[in-house]
Amino acid sequence: MAPKLNKIKNQTESPEEETPKKEFEELRGTREALLNILEDVEEARKEAEEERDKTLAIIENFPEGLLFFGGENELSSINPKARDFFNLEPENILGKDIGALRKISSLQPLMEILGEELEVYQKELKIREGLVLEVSTIAITSAEEKVGALVILRDVTREKIIERLKTEFVSIAAHQLRTPLSAIKWTLRMILDGDLGEIQQEQRKFLEGTYGSNERMIKLINDLLNVTRIEEGRFLYDIKSQDIIDIVKKVIDSLKQIAKRKRVKFSFKIPKKEIPQVEVDSEKISLAIQNLVDNAIHYTKSGGEVKVSLSYSKKEKQILFSVKDTGIGIPKEQQRRVFTRFFRAANAIRAETEGTGLGLFIAKNIVEAHGGKIWFESVENKGTTFYFTLRA
Ligand code: ADP
Repeated sequence: MAPKLNKIKNQTESPEEETPKKEFEELRGTREALLNILEDVEEARKEAEEERDKTLAIIENFPEGLLFFGGENELSSINPKARDFFNLEPENILGKDIGALRKISSLQPLMEILGEELEVYQKELKIREGLVLEVSTIAITSAEEKVGALVILRDVTREKIIERLKTEFVSIAAHQLRTPLSAIKWTLRMILDGDLGEIQQEQRKFLEGTYGSNERMIKLINDLLNVTRIEEGRFLYDIKSQDIIDIVKKVIDSLKQIAKRKRVKFSFKIPKKEIPQVEVDSEKISLAIQNLVDNAIHYTKSGGEVKVSLSYSKKEKQILFSVKDTGIGIPKEQQRRVFTRFFRAANAIRAETEGTGLGLFIAKNIVEAHGGKIWFESVENKGTTFYFTLRA
């Protein structure tokens, strides 16, 4: 019955009386809507705070050191792990830029490698005896705009110790193997040369096979020793002014027979223009060239061709060495691993070629130690060209 009464009452009210009531109702509605919005805002604020606390907790408890630099390269946060590495108090460093942070002695080495622009890279940094960090920098972007950079510090001390022990083990084992292998080599040589009496054709065939296997083992041992020396920073360079054409010629001469035996056409285009002397360690550069040319012959089938060339750019003051072959090539998807230790491409393994996967790693280290660059172009089943440059 009530709605009916209401209806009657409403009909008796004049329009003047109706207006304030309507306004009142409208105000009440607006108030309610506002309260709802406020409630939503409050909820969103709480959620945002919870998210922020969660993010902060993750950063605070993260097992790796984290430093976040804002848009002006100022340090805007640092977690306890990072502070521990450098024995720092947050109040002394927050808000400071790289230049100011470099003045803090414990932070100086880190700031030096970060540079002014906080470029993206990964590097190792020895902080003190017993603490080696791997430093990575990541640009942080929001809506495709850089808002800062995150520096991650990973303690790799243990990994470094294990790596050193492994290198030492390989080095000792290789040294121990070298002496008996040399003894075998010279004894076989004496027998093959007839110094210990006549040998029959059949015996010679077997002994030559054994001699070849022993030579490959010696090469592997020498490669391993060179790699351990590179890893331990003991691969010393005896730099002198040298004639690069002479160096290349000697390597070519030492490989001519192998190419001939394999029936691979082999040539060295001696440059017509004069090439200035270069400051190099001739033994090491010879080894790098030998590895590249030997590979070119090794990975090219009979009937193929290997071309070695040298050129000089006066403008760039550099020498360009190249060795081009018509061999098996390197599969595209494996090309980025070519200069890593022990890498052997799937097609090389399939072709049952022998190799250690160390030659290019050694060549790259030698070229880069001379301030040069090394690279290659390769198409599977078509051929490969390796290049390197040297300052002249
Ligand atoms: P190794 O030749 O002893 O295996 P390297 O470090 O010299 O070791 O070369 C690594 C790998 O790169 C080789 O096993 C082969 O798969 C590939 N490679 C190097 N040079 C060539 C080349 N000229 N043509 C085709 N593949 C090559």
